[in-house]
This record gives sequence, structure tokens and C-alpha cells, in this order.
Amino acid sequence: MKISVILIVSFLFSTLIFSQPDSKFFEKKGEVYFKFSIAEKEEINILTRIISIDNVVGNIVYAYANEEEFNEFLSLGYEYEVLRSPGDVDDVQMSSSLEELGLWDSYPPYDAYINMMYQFESDYSSICKVVDAGNTVQGRKILFVKISDNVNERETEPQFMYSSTMHGDETTGFVLMLRLIDSLLSSYGNDTRITNLVNNIEIWINPNANPDGTYHGGNNTVNGATRYNANNKDLNRNFPDPAEGQYPTGPWQPETIAMINLAQQYNFILSANFHGGTEVVNYPWDTWSRFHPDDNWFQFISHKYADTVQAHSPSTYMNGFDDGITNGYAWYRVVGGRQDFFTYFERGRELTIEISDTKLLPASFLPAHWEYNKRSFLNYIESCLFGIRGVVTDTVGNPLKALVKIAGHDFDNSEIFSDSVSGNYHRLIYSGNYNLTFSAPGFFDTIITNVSVNNLSTTILNVELIPESPVPVELVFFSAKVNGNMVSLSCETVSEINNRGFEIERVSSLTSSIQNWIKIGYLNGFGTTTEKNNYSFVDKEIPSGKYLYRLKQIDFDENYKYSQEIEVDVKPVSFSLEQNYPNPFNPTTKIEFSIPEKSYVKVKVFDILGNLVSILKSEELDAGVHKLNFDGSKFSSGIYYYSIETVGFRSVKKMLLLK
Ligand SMILES: [Zn+2]
Repeated sequence: MKISVILIVSFLFSTLIFSQPDSKFFEKKGEVYFKFSIAEKEEINILTRIISIDNVVGNIVYAYANEEEFNEFLSLGYEYEVLRSPGDVDDVQMSSSLEELGLWDSYPPYDAYINMMYQFESDYSSICKVVDAGNTVQGRKILFVKISDNVNERETEPQFMYSSTMHGDETTGFVLMLRLIDSLLSSYGNDTRITNLVNNIEIWINPNANPDGTYHGGNNTVNGATRYNANNKDLNRNFPDPAEGQYPTGPWQPETIAMINLAQQYNFILSANFHGGTEVVNYPWDTWSRFHPDDNWFQFISHKYADTVQAHSPSTYMNGFDDGITNGYAWYRVVGGRQDFFTYFERGRELTIEISDTKLLPASFLPAHWEYNKRSFLNYIESCLFGIRGVVTDTVGNPLKALVKIAGHDFDNSEIFSDSVSGNYHRLIYSGNYNLTFSAPGFFDTIITNVSVNNLSTTILNVELIPESPVPVELVFFSAKVNGNMVSLSCETVSEINNRGFEIERVSSLTSSIQNWIKIGYLNGFGTTTEKNNYSFVDKEIPSGKYLYRLKQIDFDENYKYSQEIEVDVKPVSFSLEQNYPNPFNPTTKIEFSIPEKSYVKVKVFDILGNLVSILKSEELDAGVHKLNFDGSKFSSGIYYYSIETVGFRSVKKMLLLK
């Protein structure tokens, strides 16, 4: 009897709390968790822009929303049910010391988490370094550890990243990542496989990408954790999106900016972000239905993760979807997701791995989930050693940032770049034969055909790019000076190889688009010399106007190369009024005049009797050549006069309108 009373009371209590979230509710929690049903899968494409969809099971949608998002959702008229927040777990097991945390069956208070990260660095300083990627909204830390044999260097090695808990209430990966760090560090030198990974890969691990969400209930508990950050925004909807642009859901959050900055500073070729709420390996794209060019590789790598997990866990673990994996869009559309950002904009490859049906997993289940996933964690890191890889350099061994493109295969930004600092590239790809093109500005494209690669194996292909042409003549400057209607050109070389000389070319700015450059002069070169040489040339009696000049450097083998173009403005040396054109005209004609300095100018039109019929211009004009249009369509045929008046100059000309 007593039990049923408690049940009724708690039922009423939860109904009261969770039925209608109001402003007070949002003030405390920031977000609401709810479910509703849809009639058509397509409805998700609209809904995903409004609320944060968490899961779709059949026609039931589970979602989160902040107050603004929820109000927008309400206006759509769906019937919904508010659910208990997954982060509200009263009896969560928190560790009281680093030793207790090291048993991996409790959650760390915030300070213990930070201390543990720095403890890793001090205990294993030769292979581990903490990288502070920035602060959250509330000033907590977004920390990575970098694990590598030469930890203070950037080597010709792939950079790999794990990150967890960007949804603050999905905490399983948080503790599992701390445990993975501990395992990698403590096994280095003892375990051959782990030693090999640390020696050959830069491994970056960020256990918690949204600590404000995880510690929403305070620094000493993860009870009360939220999905969103402290601004009530879903960080996994906040990244630049291939289909929706830079800001798919509003301005970037500080946590997003920290991650983007890190992504741009380094060159992560492979990464994963860990979530909870279901058990599945999710691969790109999230934002559109077409498949990634490397869809077969994504399926292969995802199945490999899931298959290994399934072999070491109960038959109910990670067994849904397509045998534990899913294409992102096929599950439900996400815009602003991190995996699409890394895969599209950063040319990496990222998976979203959901590792526990329960978001805030009871801590006593953490060791079991470690057992299920630990092999796959290592396999996935190891896979960045496979595929086609090598170093791109110039002919003297300097590393080059080159585009590595597979003909007939790459699109949607699937081509990659070699690293600008070390020149290494890593093309993860499904087994097959491929033609690779390496290109970099200033170098000839290098095409290497029929490169064969097998799954889980490595094809090494180092590439040397040849400069397009050795610079035979090093021009340090090329300049022009206008003096009246003369243009003085000068240039200086610091070295010349095989230089026959320079042709000087000119084109009017007005006609440069049709490329009618004319040769106006020639300067003899000095052949081959390491001496400094000066050249000059004067272009005389040029009509006023704007011009471009360039040099065509020609060697003794008739190879040539153009210099940059320089523009000059030749001002008129005197006032003038030109004859109109056409003349006679019907009904319009052009009137051109020149003024050598800034002047107040009036241009008038009179009829044959001297009556003023039109004022074409009455204003201050800059020095130069000016053109006006006269439209005679309202006037009768006959002789007209046009005049220019300015201080110290007056001129009149006659024109004939013939209708
Ligand atoms: Zn999530």
C-alpha cells in the first residue's frame, strides 16, 4: 500500500514537472528533452533546423530544445511528450580522489578531471603534452593531450583526434577517453602495438568538449548534465556546414571556435567524436543524401569498428541499424554537425560513434563499455597508417603543401592536401588502383597512375614536384613615372640567366580586356649575369588616358615570361574640346573634352539662333579625359553648337543633327 502511494505521488510529481516547460523551467535547465511522432520522414529536414534531434526510431523523434527553439517547435502544432532529462541522475557515482578515478568506475569532479590531464603530462612528459585549446562560455577548459614519441615536434606523421562529450550529458566516452590516455601512456614501451602507434602517429585526445554541459549541476557532480553548452546551444549543430554555409545555426560558440582553430592549425586526417543515447557508428554525410566518394571506405572502417566491438560484447550491444553502422543522413539529417565539418572543410575523415544507449551511463557500467570498445579504439587509431601515404617535396627536399587528387574519384572536397609544415599526406581509401595527381602553385602537376593499395595495408608514395620554370631573370622592380604626355619606365634585375632582352608592351586600360597589347620598344638583356642591372625606357607623346604596361622577358631559346602589369594615368597637358562623334548624328552623339587640372566645367548646347537648349554638365571635374552623351531625339534636324567653359578656357564646336 505504502509503495503504491509513493508511486502515485512520484508519478504526479513527474507529470507536474515535465508536462509544460515554462520560462522558469528553462531558466534552471536551459533545455527540454521530449518526443513526438511524425507522419513523413521528410518532416525531419525542416525540424532539424529548429530543434536538436537526438534520435529517430521509426516515426518517433526524440529531441532537445532551448526555450526559443521549443517555442518555434510549439508553433508547428505537434503533439509531444516531455521526458525526464537524461542528465538528471540522482545517484551518480563521483570519484573522491585521482586513485579512485583510476579504477575507472566513477565520474571525475571537474577539478579532478583537469588535475588528471596535467598529471598525465607530468608522469609521462617525454610522450605526453597537454594542449589547452581554449575556454568554454563559463571559463572551463577544453583540454587535449597530445601523445607522440617526439611530443614537442611536428613530425612527418599523421595527426589523429578523438574527442568526446560535445553533448555534455553523453558521458560514457568522457571516462573511456581518460582511460584510453592512461592505457596508451602506461603501455608505451611494454606493448609492441601501442608503442608502434605512439611512435608513428600524433594522437590527440580531448575527453570532454563541453564541460559546461557536463557540469551544469556544479563542478562536483555530473548529475544535472545538459546536452547543450552554457548558452543553451547544441555544439554539434554549430559548425560550418557543407550545404548550409558558415553559420547554419547562428554564431559560433566559444567551444566551436576553439575546435575550428585547432582544426585549422593542424591537419587531422582521421578523427571521431563520441556520443551516447544509442549504439552505432555513424559516418558522413549528415547534411545531404548523396554519398561521400569514399563511401565504401567509410562503410569498411565503420564495420571494422562495430564488428570488433560485437565480437567482445553481449549480443545486444551495438547491434542495431545496419549491423551497427549507419550513414548519417539515412538516420536523420543533421546540419552544422562536427563530422561533416571535419570531413568537408578540413579534408579529414570523421565518424560519430555512439557508445551507450544510456547517455549518462551508471558509472558501474563504464568498465564493461571499456572492454567492449578498447580494441576498436586502437584499431581506429591504427587505420590512419593505412592507405596511400608519403611526403611531397620540391626537387631539393623542401616540404610542399600540394593538392592530392584522385582522377575520376574525388569530389565534394574529398581530395586532400599534404601538410604544409612536413609535406606528408595520407590518403585513406578503399582497396583498388588509382591515378593520383599532385599539384602545387609554381610546380608542374605530377600524375602517378595505377597506384595499387589494399585495405589494412600501406602504399608509400613519395613525390618530388618539379618547378614550372627556373626563374631565369629575377626582376626586383618595374615602375613607371608620368611626366606630361611621357611615361618613363624603369626596371632592375639582380640576376639574369640566358636573357636576350625585354619587349615593352602597352595597352589602353579601356581595351585591355580584349588583349590588344602593342609592342612599343625593346631593351637588350645582359645574357647571364649575377650583377645588378638597371633598364629604362621613355614612351613619348601618348594621348591622355589610362594605360597598362608590361615587360615580356625573352631568353635566347625564345621562351618568354611576362612581368606584372602596372597602370599609369596620363593626364591631358592642356584643355581641349574634341569634335563630336558621330557627326552628323541621329539622335545621339559623343562629346569628348580634356582638362589638365581639377576644374569647374560647364558644357552647353545651343541652337543655330544661339538659344541655350541643354546643359550637359555643370560641376567640378577631375583632371583627365571626359566623355558626354548628347541625345538630340527631342530636337529637330539642323546645326547645333556645343561649348565648354572653364576658368581660362572656352571653346565652341559645331555639329549636325540629321533626322
Ligand atoms: Zn550526442
